[in-house]
Amino acid sequence: MTKKYDVIVIGAGPAGMTAALYASRAELSVLMLDRGVYGGQMNNTAEIENYPGFKSILGPDLSEKMYESSTQFGVEYAYGEVQDVQVDGDRKLVKTADDEFEAPAVIIGSGSEYRKLGVPGEEQYGGRGVSYCAVCDGAFFKNEDVVVVGGGDSAIEEATYLANLAKKVTVIHRRDTLRAQKILQERAFARDNIDFIWNTNVTEILGNDQKVSGVALKNNQTGETSEFPTAGIFIYVGILPITGAFSHLGITDEQGWIVTNDQMETAVPGIFAVGDVRKKHLRQITTAVGDGGVAGQAVFDYVESVK
Ligand code: FAD
Repeated sequence: MTKKYDVIVIGAGPAGMTAALYASRAELSVLMLDRGVYGGQMNNTAEIENYPGFKSILGPDLSEKMYESSTQFGVEYAYGEVQDVQVDGDRKLVKTADDEFEAPAVIIGSGSEYRKLGVPGEEQYGGRGVSYCAVCDGAFFKNEDVVVVGGGDSAIEEATYLANLAKKVTVIHRRDTLRAQKILQERAFARDNIDFIWNTNVTEILGNDQKVSGVALKNNQTGETSEFPTAGIFIYVGILPITGAFSHLGITDEQGWIVTNDQMETAVPGIFAVGDVRKKHLRQITTAVGDGGVAGQAVFDYVESVK
Protein backbone atom coordinates (compact mmCIF):
# COMPACT_ATOMS: atom_id res chain seq x y z
CA MET A 1 0.00 0.00 0.00
CA THR A 2 1.29 3.48 -0.86
CA LYS A 3 1.66 5.62 2.27
CA LYS A 4 0.85 9.30 1.86
CA TYR A 5 2.54 12.35 3.37
CA ASP A 6 2.66 16.09 2.71
CA VAL A 7 6.43 15.99 2.16
CA ILE A 8 9.02 13.31 1.59
CA VAL A 9 12.60 14.27 2.43
CA ILE A 10 15.26 12.13 0.77
CA GLY A 11 18.45 12.09 2.84
CA ALA A 12 18.93 12.75 6.55
CA GLY A 13 22.10 14.81 6.41
CA PRO A 14 22.11 18.31 7.93
CA ALA A 15 20.21 19.68 4.90
CA GLY A 16 17.44 17.07 4.94
CA MET A 17 17.11 17.11 8.72
CA THR A 18 16.70 20.89 8.78
CA ALA A 19 14.14 20.82 5.96
CA ALA A 20 12.21 18.14 7.87
CA LEU A 21 12.36 20.23 11.06
CA TYR A 22 10.92 23.33 9.38
CA ALA A 23 8.24 21.44 7.44
CA SER A 24 7.06 19.41 10.45
CA ARG A 25 7.03 22.49 12.71
CA ALA A 26 4.68 24.04 10.12
CA GLU A 27 2.46 21.01 10.82
CA LEU A 28 3.03 19.20 7.54
CA SER A 29 3.29 15.41 7.72
CA VAL A 30 6.88 14.54 6.86
CA LEU A 31 8.65 11.30 5.98
CA MET A 32 12.46 11.45 6.05
CA LEU A 33 14.25 8.57 4.32
CA ASP A 34 17.92 7.68 4.43
CA ARG A 35 19.86 4.78 2.98
CA GLY A 36 22.41 4.98 5.78
CA VAL A 37 22.83 6.50 9.21
CA TYR A 38 21.22 9.89 9.85
CA GLY A 39 23.81 12.66 9.93
CA GLY A 40 25.19 12.04 6.44
CA GLN A 41 28.77 13.20 5.97
CA MET A 42 28.91 14.63 9.47
CA ASN A 43 29.43 11.04 10.58
CA ASN A 44 32.71 11.00 8.65
CA THR A 45 34.01 14.19 10.21
CA ALA A 46 36.12 14.34 13.34
CA GLU A 47 36.02 17.81 14.80
CA ILE A 48 33.73 20.51 13.48
CA GLU A 49 34.88 23.99 14.46
CA ASN A 50 32.83 26.11 12.10
CA TYR A 51 29.28 25.33 13.13
CA PRO A 52 28.00 28.21 15.28
CA GLY A 53 26.93 27.34 18.80
CA PHE A 54 29.81 24.94 19.38
CA LYS A 55 33.47 25.89 19.71
CA SER A 56 34.19 22.37 18.61
CA ILE A 57 32.00 19.29 18.29
CA LEU A 58 32.53 15.78 16.96
CA GLY A 59 30.62 15.08 13.74
CA PRO A 60 28.68 12.07 15.12
CA ASP A 61 27.67 14.14 18.19
CA LEU A 62 26.34 16.97 16.02
CA SER A 63 24.45 14.36 13.95
CA GLU A 64 22.78 13.06 17.10
CA LYS A 65 21.81 16.55 18.28
CA MET A 66 20.41 17.52 14.89
CA TYR A 67 18.42 14.29 14.67
CA GLU A 68 16.88 14.87 18.12
CA SER A 69 15.82 18.39 17.22
CA SER A 70 14.69 17.62 13.68
CA THR A 71 12.31 14.85 14.79
CA GLN A 72 10.75 16.68 17.76
CA PHE A 73 7.67 17.78 15.77
CA GLY A 74 6.68 14.34 14.55
CA VAL A 75 8.87 13.64 11.51
CA GLU A 76 8.67 9.97 10.60
CA TYR A 77 12.14 8.60 9.94
CA ALA A 78 12.69 5.43 7.95
CA TYR A 79 15.52 3.49 6.41
CA GLY A 80 15.35 3.20 2.63
CA GLU A 81 17.37 3.88 -0.49
CA VAL A 82 15.28 5.89 -2.93
CA GLN A 83 15.60 4.35 -6.37
CA ASP A 84 13.08 6.37 -8.32
CA VAL A 85 10.86 9.45 -8.15
CA GLN A 86 7.88 9.61 -10.52
CA VAL A 87 6.03 12.87 -11.15
CA ASP A 88 2.34 12.94 -11.98
CA GLY A 89 1.47 16.62 -11.61
CA ASP A 90 0.90 17.30 -7.92
CA ARG A 91 1.48 13.63 -7.06
CA LYS A 92 5.04 12.47 -6.54
CA LEU A 93 5.76 8.78 -6.08
CA VAL A 94 8.95 7.90 -4.24
CA LYS A 95 10.12 4.31 -4.59
CA THR A 96 12.60 2.31 -2.53
CA ALA A 97 13.37 -1.36 -3.09
CA ASP A 98 10.54 -2.42 -0.74
CA ASP A 99 8.14 0.51 -0.45
CA GLU A 100 6.31 3.22 -2.31
CA PHE A 101 5.36 6.59 -0.83
CA GLU A 102 3.34 9.49 -2.17
CA ALA A 103 3.38 13.22 -1.46
CA PRO A 104 2.74 16.47 -3.34
CA ALA A 105 6.26 17.62 -2.46
CA VAL A 106 9.70 16.03 -2.34
CA ILE A 107 12.88 17.55 -0.92
CA ILE A 108 16.08 15.96 -2.21
CA GLY A 109 19.04 16.21 0.18
CA SER A 110 21.04 13.22 -1.03
CA GLY A 111 24.44 14.92 -0.75
CA SER A 112 27.62 13.95 -2.50
CA GLU A 113 30.18 11.18 -2.45
CA TYR A 114 33.93 10.87 -2.82
CA ARG A 115 35.50 11.02 -6.22
CA LYS A 116 37.74 8.01 -6.82
CA LEU A 117 41.31 8.36 -7.99
CA GLY A 118 40.65 5.83 -10.74
CA VAL A 119 44.04 4.12 -10.56
CA PRO A 120 44.94 0.41 -10.52
CA GLY A 121 44.76 -1.08 -7.03
CA GLU A 122 42.11 1.35 -5.74
CA GLU A 123 39.23 -1.14 -6.01
CA GLN A 124 41.33 -4.17 -5.09
CA TYR A 125 42.59 -2.65 -1.83
CA GLY A 126 39.37 -0.85 -0.85
CA GLY A 127 38.96 -1.44 2.91
CA ARG A 128 42.43 -3.03 3.00
CA GLY A 129 44.44 0.16 3.19
CA VAL A 130 42.49 2.37 0.77
CA SER A 131 40.08 4.67 2.61
CA TYR A 132 38.00 7.80 2.01
CA CYS A 133 37.25 8.41 5.69
CA ALA A 134 39.92 9.18 8.28
CA VAL A 135 37.41 9.22 11.12
CA CYS A 136 36.15 5.75 10.20
CA ASP A 137 39.48 4.06 9.44
CA GLY A 138 42.25 6.19 10.99
CA ALA A 139 42.45 4.05 14.14
CA PHE A 140 43.59 1.05 12.06
CA PHE A 141 46.81 2.92 11.28
CA LYS A 142 48.02 3.79 14.80
CA ASN A 143 51.78 4.41 14.72
CA GLU A 144 52.01 3.53 11.02
CA ASP A 145 52.91 5.68 8.02
CA VAL A 146 49.99 6.80 5.86
CA VAL A 147 49.49 9.05 2.86
CA VAL A 148 46.71 11.50 2.12
CA VAL A 149 45.98 12.40 -1.50
CA GLY A 150 44.57 15.87 -2.22
CA GLY A 151 45.06 19.50 -1.29
CA GLY A 152 41.58 20.86 -0.43
CA ASP A 153 39.88 21.39 2.93
CA SER A 154 38.92 17.76 3.48
CA ALA A 155 42.40 16.44 2.63
CA ILE A 156 44.21 18.84 4.95
CA GLU A 157 41.67 18.62 7.77
CA GLU A 158 41.83 14.85 7.70
CA ALA A 159 45.65 14.78 7.38
CA THR A 160 45.83 16.80 10.61
CA TYR A 161 43.40 14.41 12.27
CA LEU A 162 45.43 11.39 11.12
CA ALA A 163 48.63 13.00 12.43
CA ASN A 164 47.26 12.37 15.95
CA LEU A 165 47.12 8.63 15.27
CA ALA A 166 49.67 7.73 12.63
CA LYS A 167 53.45 7.89 13.00
CA LYS A 168 53.80 9.99 9.87
CA VAL A 169 51.38 11.45 7.35
CA THR A 170 52.55 12.36 3.86
CA VAL A 171 50.26 14.57 1.81
CA ILE A 172 50.63 13.95 -1.92
CA HIS A 173 49.26 16.79 -4.02
CA ARG A 174 49.25 17.27 -7.79
CA ARG A 175 49.91 21.03 -7.49
CA ASP A 176 52.59 23.07 -5.68
CA THR A 177 50.16 24.85 -3.36
CA LEU A 178 47.17 23.79 -1.30
CA ARG A 179 43.59 24.87 -1.95
CA ALA A 180 42.58 24.37 1.69
CA GLN A 181 41.63 27.32 3.92
CA LYS A 182 44.67 29.13 5.38
CA ILE A 183 43.93 28.14 8.98
CA LEU A 184 43.90 24.45 8.00
CA GLN A 185 47.14 24.84 6.04
CA GLU A 186 48.91 26.54 8.95
CA ARG A 187 47.89 23.77 11.34
CA ALA A 188 49.16 21.10 8.97
CA PHE A 189 52.47 22.91 8.26
CA ALA A 190 53.03 23.25 12.03
CA ARG A 191 52.89 19.48 12.59
CA ASP A 192 56.27 17.69 12.79
CA ASN A 193 54.82 14.46 11.45
CA ILE A 194 53.13 15.82 8.31
CA ASP A 195 55.25 15.94 5.14
CA PHE A 196 54.28 17.07 1.66
CA ILE A 197 55.10 15.73 -1.79
CA TRP A 198 54.19 18.37 -4.40
CA ASN A 199 53.42 18.26 -8.14
CA THR A 200 52.89 14.55 -7.93
CA ASN A 201 50.18 12.12 -9.04
CA VAL A 202 49.49 8.71 -7.56
CA THR A 203 49.48 6.35 -10.55
CA GLU A 204 48.92 3.02 -8.79
CA ILE A 205 48.19 1.61 -5.35
CA LEU A 206 50.61 -1.19 -4.60
CA GLY A 207 50.10 -4.16 -2.30
CA ASN A 208 50.89 -7.77 -1.53
CA ASP A 209 47.41 -9.03 -2.51
CA GLN A 210 46.29 -8.78 1.15
CA LYS A 211 46.83 -5.11 1.89
CA VAL A 212 48.39 -1.87 0.72
CA SER A 213 52.18 -1.66 0.84
CA GLY A 214 52.83 1.56 -1.07
CA VAL A 215 51.94 3.90 -3.90
CA ALA A 216 53.50 4.46 -7.32
CA LEU A 217 54.10 8.15 -8.01
CA LYS A 218 54.82 10.34 -11.01
CA ASN A 219 56.11 13.90 -10.74
CA ASN A 220 53.96 15.84 -13.20
CA GLN A 221 56.71 18.46 -13.79
CA THR A 222 59.75 16.24 -14.33
CA GLY A 223 58.07 12.95 -15.34
CA GLU A 224 60.17 11.16 -12.71
CA THR A 225 58.54 8.00 -11.32
CA SER A 226 59.05 6.45 -7.90
CA GLU A 227 57.49 4.17 -5.30
CA PHE A 228 56.58 5.34 -1.81
CA PRO A 229 55.95 2.82 0.97
CA THR A 230 52.80 3.27 3.07
CA ALA A 231 50.36 1.19 5.11
CA GLY A 232 47.33 3.25 4.17
CA ILE A 233 46.12 5.76 1.62
CA PHE A 234 43.34 8.27 2.35
CA ILE A 235 41.87 9.79 -0.80
CA TYR A 236 40.27 13.27 -0.88
CA VAL A 237 40.26 14.38 -4.50
CA GLY A 238 36.83 15.89 -4.87
CA ILE A 239 33.19 15.03 -4.71
CA LEU A 240 30.39 13.96 -7.02
CA PRO A 241 26.63 14.54 -6.61
CA ILE A 242 24.43 11.60 -5.65
CA THR A 243 21.71 12.12 -8.21
CA GLY A 244 21.48 8.83 -10.11
CA ALA A 245 17.89 8.25 -8.97
CA PHE A 246 16.83 11.75 -10.08
CA SER A 247 18.70 12.20 -13.35
CA HIS A 248 15.57 11.49 -15.46
CA LEU A 249 13.70 14.43 -13.89
CA GLY A 250 15.59 17.04 -15.92
CA ILE A 251 16.68 18.97 -12.82
CA THR A 252 20.46 18.48 -13.00
CA ASP A 253 23.25 20.28 -14.83
CA GLU A 254 25.73 18.51 -17.10
CA GLN A 255 27.81 17.38 -14.09
CA GLY A 256 24.78 16.02 -12.24
CA TRP A 257 24.37 18.78 -9.62
CA ILE A 258 20.72 19.79 -9.04
CA VAL A 259 19.92 23.34 -10.12
CA THR A 260 17.54 25.36 -7.91
CA ASN A 261 16.42 28.93 -7.44
CA ASP A 262 16.88 30.74 -4.12
CA GLN A 263 13.73 29.07 -2.76
CA MET A 264 15.42 25.68 -3.37
CA GLU A 265 12.82 24.93 -6.08
CA THR A 266 13.94 22.81 -9.02
CA ALA A 267 12.52 22.99 -12.54
CA VAL A 268 9.80 20.51 -11.46
CA PRO A 269 7.08 22.13 -9.32
CA GLY A 270 6.97 20.47 -5.91
CA ILE A 271 10.50 19.05 -6.10
CA PHE A 272 13.06 20.91 -4.02
CA ALA A 273 16.77 20.27 -3.45
CA VAL A 274 18.98 21.20 -0.50
CA GLY A 275 22.58 20.90 0.65
CA ASP A 276 25.61 19.47 -1.12
CA VAL A 277 23.60 17.95 -3.96
CA ARG A 278 22.77 21.45 -5.23
CA LYS A 279 24.86 23.37 -7.74
CA LYS A 280 26.45 25.91 -5.38
CA HIS A 281 29.73 27.45 -4.28
CA LEU A 282 30.18 26.42 -0.66
CA ARG A 283 29.34 22.89 0.51
CA GLN A 284 29.36 23.01 4.29
CA ILE A 285 27.08 22.16 7.20
CA THR A 286 26.07 25.79 7.68
CA THR A 287 25.03 26.16 4.06
CA ALA A 288 23.25 22.77 4.09
CA VAL A 289 21.28 23.85 7.16
CA GLY A 290 20.47 27.21 5.53
CA ASP A 291 19.13 25.48 2.43
CA GLY A 292 17.05 23.17 4.61
CA GLY A 293 15.40 26.08 6.41
CA VAL A 294 14.53 27.84 3.16
CA ALA A 295 13.12 24.67 1.58
CA GLY A 296 11.17 23.73 4.71
CA GLN A 297 9.33 27.05 4.49
CA ALA A 298 8.95 27.05 0.69
CA VAL A 299 7.51 23.53 0.75
CA PHE A 300 4.80 24.70 3.15
CA ASP A 301 3.72 27.35 0.64
CA TYR A 302 3.73 24.77 -2.17
CA VAL A 303 1.69 22.17 -0.28
CA GLU A 304 -0.87 24.84 0.74
CA SER A 305 -1.16 25.94 -2.90
CA VAL A 306 -2.02 22.47 -4.21
CA LYS A 307 -4.36 21.41 -1.37
P1 FAD B 1 25.11 14.69 3.37
O1 FAD B 1 25.66 15.04 4.69
O2 FAD B 1 26.00 14.05 2.37
O3 FAD B 1 23.84 13.74 3.62
C1 FAD B 1 23.15 13.16 2.54
C2 FAD B 1 22.36 11.96 3.05
O4 FAD B 1 21.55 11.45 1.98
C3 FAD B 1 23.25 10.81 3.50
O5 FAD B 1 22.90 10.43 4.83
C4 FAD B 1 22.95 9.68 2.50
O6 FAD B 1 22.97 8.40 3.09
C5 FAD B 1 21.54 10.04 2.03
N1 FAD B 1 21.20 9.54 0.69
C6 FAD B 1 21.93 9.68 -0.46
N2 FAD B 1 21.28 9.10 -1.49
C7 FAD B 1 20.14 8.58 -0.98
C8 FAD B 1 19.06 7.84 -1.57
N3 FAD B 1 19.03 7.53 -2.89
N4 FAD B 1 18.06 7.43 -0.76
C9 FAD B 1 18.06 7.74 0.57
N5 FAD B 1 19.07 8.43 1.17
C10 FAD B 1 20.08 8.85 0.40
N6 FAD B 1 31.45 20.88 6.72
C11 FAD B 1 31.58 21.81 7.69
O7 FAD B 1 30.75 22.72 7.77
N7 FAD B 1 32.62 21.78 8.57
C12 FAD B 1 33.56 20.78 8.56
O8 FAD B 1 34.48 20.77 9.38
C13 FAD B 1 33.44 19.77 7.56
N8 FAD B 1 34.35 18.77 7.48
C14 FAD B 1 34.18 17.76 6.56
C15 FAD B 1 35.10 16.70 6.53
C16 FAD B 1 34.94 15.65 5.62
C17 FAD B 1 35.91 14.52 5.60
C18 FAD B 1 33.86 15.68 4.71
C19 FAD B 1 33.67 14.57 3.73
C20 FAD B 1 32.95 16.74 4.71
C21 FAD B 1 33.11 17.80 5.63
N9 FAD B 1 32.23 18.89 5.66
C22 FAD B 1 32.35 19.84 6.63
C23 FAD B 1 31.13 19.03 4.66
C24 FAD B 1 29.77 18.65 5.25
O9 FAD B 1 29.87 17.40 5.90
C25 FAD B 1 28.73 18.62 4.13
O10 FAD B 1 28.72 19.88 3.48
C26 FAD B 1 27.33 18.33 4.68
O11 FAD B 1 27.29 17.11 5.39
C27 FAD B 1 26.32 18.29 3.53
O12 FAD B 1 25.08 17.99 4.05
P2 FAD B 1 23.92 17.34 3.15
O13 FAD B 1 22.78 17.11 4.08
O14 FAD B 1 23.72 18.15 1.95
O15 FAD B 1 24.50 15.94 2.62
